[in-house]
Amino acid sequence: MFDTILIANRGEIACRVIDTCRRLGVRTVAVHSDVDAQARHVEMADVAVSLGGASPAESYLRGDAIIAAARATGAQAIHPGYGFLSENPDFVEAVEAAGLVFIGPSAKAIRAMGLKDAAKALMAEAGVPVVPGYQGAEQAPDHLAREAEAIGYPVLIKAVAGGGGKGMRLVEAPKAFADALASAQSEARTAFGNAHVLIEKYITSPRHIEVQVFGDGTRAVHLFERDCSLQRRHQKVIEEAPAPGMTAEMRAAMGDAAVRAAEAIGYKGAGTVEFIVDGSDGLHPDGFWFMEMNTRLQVEHPVTEAITGVDLVEWQLRVAAGAPLPCAQEDLTITGHAFEARLYAEDVPAGFLPSTGRLAHLAFPEDARADTGVRSGDAISPHYDPMIAKVIVHGPSRDVALRKLRRALSGTQVAGTVTNLAFLGALARHDGFSRGEVDTGLIGRDLEALTAVPDPAPAAMAQAVLALKGLDRAPRPLDGFALWGPVAQDVTVRIGEDVSTCRVICHAPGEIDVELGGTTVPARFGANGWRYDGQPARDVFVADGRATVFGDPTLVVDHVDPLDVDAGAGASSDLIEAPMPGMVRSVFVEVGQAVTRGDRLAVLEAMKMEHSLLAARDGTVAEVMAAAGTQVEAGAVLIRLEEENA
Ligand code: ADP
Repeated sequence: MFDTILIANRGEIACRVIDTCRRLGVRTVAVHSDVDAQARHVEMADVAVSLGGASPAESYLRGDAIIAAARATGAQAIHPGYGFLSENPDFVEAVEAAGLVFIGPSAKAIRAMGLKDAAKALMAEAGVPVVPGYQGAEQAPDHLAREAEAIGYPVLIKAVAGGGGKGMRLVEAPKAFADALASAQSEARTAFGNAHVLIEKYITSPRHIEVQVFGDGTRAVHLFERDCSLQRRHQKVIEEAPAPGMTAEMRAAMGDAAVRAAEAIGYKGAGTVEFIVDGSDGLHPDGFWFMEMNTRLQVEHPVTEAITGVDLVEWQLRVAAGAPLPCAQEDLTITGHAFEARLYAEDVPAGFLPSTGRLAHLAFPEDARADTGVRSGDAISPHYDPMIAKVIVHGPSRDVALRKLRRALSGTQVAGTVTNLAFLGALARHDGFSRGEVDTGLIGRDLEALTAVPDPAPAAMAQAVLALKGLDRAPRPLDGFALWGPVAQDVTVRIGEDVSTCRVICHAPGEIDVELGGTTVPARFGANGWRYDGQPARDVFVADGRATVFGDPTLVVDHVDPLDVDAGAGASSDLIEAPMPGMVRSVFVEVGQAVTRGDRLAVLEAMKMEHSLLAARDGTVAEVMAAAGTQVEAGAVLIRLEEENA
């Protein structure tokens, strides 16, 4: 085993790797960018080396600097985590040339799986079922159109260099083919510098089921499957293991195929073979096809760890240090069921807009595994992925595990930034999902219901109002009321965009009524603390005029000065501001131009995505303050409309 390893990553995965190293007594070296100097992974490691910069290109992608850091600190091996340099064969070669061990597969194995077309051809040769389609070199549009015709519609166009769903287009009928092809190619050229595409039969009612494999460079075993069908725009949201409805026969067939795939490329370390499965009529051993192989540890690996009892990072370290496979296929078994939910800083009602901000408070329930790279007080930086944590639960059956997931999500507390927690909670309660009826279209079909913002619960609302006024402590005789009778005060609050005024009436110590619109919520203090409408108080966090009442769903209430509201209301629709720090991609308007409410005025690129900035009302552009290519801070005014009636 190694004495010291360097982790060429950040965030939750760096922390997760360090956890295992600590357990094995292996010394760890963290690397970090300037903005991550105080990050959790830096605090956890034994030694930390600064890479400088903030963007990945200036820090976590600097292979040379990382190798130099490993040599300077006496590390014998480098763990790449996922993302960044984890699937970069040139980096693997550079690590080995420096006399260090790369904890992962060979450069050759990564290259073999790097392009979808070559990987598919290789897999077909190794006897692994692949999705019927065309993956040839001839790329002329009319040739591709004929191939699509031969495969039979609907078809999927995929960039061979693709990833993250980019460069992928579903085409339902021949007349739509040419346009879809052109747009897939142009997206692929921009994103990957490679416009080549392949064409596949589109599997209707598809499920995404992947198999965890582990190899020693010659032989491989599989650690069963994960179902990652709950996806939004091809991004995984909740994963589980094993897959609902999986039969022993199909599991054996998929496991064999995955092991064949791994052994065909002499795979070493942890890898994932992704299959697309036709779920339209149950699961059948002849209804799965290879999509791609990810040659690294995967984000969702903890659900596999939960059902097998294997620490995959420990296996990675052992095999990289030259040990044989830790066990044989027949030694591996499945115990119970596990789920993982990905908690993100994102504004779901605003269309899952990635968010930034400081995590004023962050806490996880005790009976769940939370893999995280941040602590209370840390910032979600615009430079990296806005994932806050992965919440993982395990139970003896799927039903029990799912109930534990719901509890774990409602017990997860985040204040200071918006999150997708309510969306995850709604998904965990979804009827079809609860029954195990999953497919990749589930979230898209039910998006409206899954993202509906419920009316705030009166009890939670009353608690928030008292917390904002500091009246939710153990009452003291002169708190907020007078001896000679009830005292009332109005409190103006905002939830999202909705501003309302409620009335707090203090009758006696520990006896307060909160009037909210038409309802009155009694707040009473007793032996077990405050009760609101008869219900026990929830955990609440208050800072900077904002109360966050945790639970399912968590309620965020801002205290507003009524004068500010009036002043702000007119101004806000005049100004088009950057919702987060980022780079202005394009500006579509010029001074004097008339615009209509909803028009796209500019595009901001931030958090690896493009965000359209729309006109909030009809009007005329008075000023354009940002040009394409400029970097802007959150809240920077980009465009100003002429005042109404001006
Ligand atoms: P990327 O590498 O861009 O993530 P993948 O090839 O892994 O692309 O596919 C991403 C997702 O697209 C899959 O998880 C699945 O939901 C869907 N998908 C891929 N291929 C097909 C297909 N042939 N039919 C239907 N859906 C597909």
